[in-house]
Amino acid sequence: MSIKGYEVINILNKIADVINENKLHLTELDAAIGDGDHGLNMSKGFEAVKEKLKDDNGDDLGNTFKKVGMTLVSTVGGAAGPLYGTAFMKGASVLNGKSEIDLDDYIQVLKASLDGIKMRGKAELGEKTMIDCLEPYLNELIKVKSSGLDVAECLNKAKEAAFKGLEKTKEIKATKGRASYLGDRSIGHQDAGATSTYLMLKTVYTYIKGE
Ligand code: ADP
Ligand code: MG
Repeated sequence: MSIKGYEVINILNKIADVINENKLHLTELDAAIGDGDHGLNMSKGFEAVKEKLKDDNGDDLGNTFKKVGMTLVSTVGGAAGPLYGTAFMKGASVLNGKSEIDLDDYIQVLKASLDGIKMRGKAELGEKTMIDCLEPYLNELIKVKSSGLDVAECLNKAKEAAFKGLEKTKEIKATKGRASYLGDRSIGHQDAGATSTYLMLKTVYTYIKGE
């Protein structure tokens, strides 16, 4: 099953809406152990992305992702802007010239994105960041892709693994980013960046399932 370029654009627009709907929630999570700007930053960034995608029909998804990444870098403040920006720009590098993607392409995009985030933020799994949501998602997707399940079911399994990773951020201490200044006091709080990542991954599933 392949997803056409225009559907990828639809998903990106949906992600922008979901981030906007959850602006307050993300801000509250970030306010508890950070500076409370994550929701506002992200919704501002994705509003700008929506604007940039208005005349994009998805015939070169490399170009689309590059645009998204550059927009996020220039409009999202804080740590998340360069991290998500890098994720999309690295994702762009495996999508050059493509006007549709299949599950293998999606996995390659996620791999490049995760590597980009790790390189940029110098963080690993278990440091209470967005990585704690994205890495289990990717690993589960790789695991289930040849299991005979259809794409939506694979995405659902991966989304469940991402949710587990997200929940786990409540139990662990932040050792990267602003929340790390709190040390042990960061325990008991859910990570804001892992939450925005989860919302994006969940949106991909919701869209594909609805097809
Ligand atoms: P800031 O902390 O600069 O205010 P945001 O509030 O926009 O930035 O984003 C905070 C989120 O960024 C955190 O919840 C965490 O998930 C993520 N984050 C912070 N530092 C890193 C890092 N080094 N690597 C990966 N993710 C990080
Ligand atoms: Mg913040």
